[in-house]
Amino acid sequence: MKKTKKRNKRAHNPRAIGLMSPNGTRFAEVAACLAEIGRGFHSRGWVLGTSGNFSAVISREPLRLAITSTGLDKGNLTPEQFLEMDEAANVVHGDGRPSAEALLHLAIVRGVDADAVLHTHSVWSTVLSGSHAAQGGIAFEGYEMLKGLEGVRTHKHREWLPILENSQYMIELGEHVSKTLRENPGIHGFLLREHGLYTWGAGLQEAKRHVEILEFLMEVLVRSGAAQSG
Ligand SMILES: [Zn+2]
Repeated sequence: MKKTKKRNKRAHNPRAIGLMSPNGTRFAEVAACLAEIGRGFHSRGWVLGTSGNFSAVISREPLRLAITSTGLDKGNLTPEQFLEMDEAANVVHGDGRPSAEALLHLAIVRGVDADAVLHTHSVWSTVLSGSHAAQGGIAFEGYEMLKGLEGVRTHKHREWLPILENSQYMIELGEHVSKTLRENPGIHGFLLREHGLYTWGAGLQEAKRHVEILEFLMEVLVRSGAAQSG
């Protein structure tokens, strides 16, 4: 009885998230999940000052993504603030506009087998993507936490995290992302120089796990380097 009441209330509210879109139910679920991920990442200091952006595929044919609107505090996101975006980064539903980096999200969901893309601006990714830029990336090897990356079975795995030069020209950067994904099959993420981390997953939970693992590994690298030099 209670459940029926709830459903009816929702059905009569035209503003209720999900009813604005043919992909409604999936959009609503994904937006709620992305908002929760945002709160968690913000509390860890990975998306401070409205930085970072998150997306998830809600349909492939046609391609539709739920994505964060630009300029919002990622610690206080509500599902209603998410946008539905098409394959050309046009907003199909929702108020606001996606980040210019939406084009990178599109390049990733087209380039790898991923339905969720998460982007963070942590201290560790900013430090390492600057200090390792000349090497073109960072290699992680020997860490037990590597096994948190999808498909990795042993700490002996060598994970390559490419570093791309940062740019404000998103069409060009999107092409660079696509090229990096083609040339490095099997990677789980990449860094933009002195900017942040992009990672992805088959679903949101996998992508979230990849952020946690890669952020952990980057922090270990910085702290162990500091420990050795100290
Ligand atoms: Zn960014």
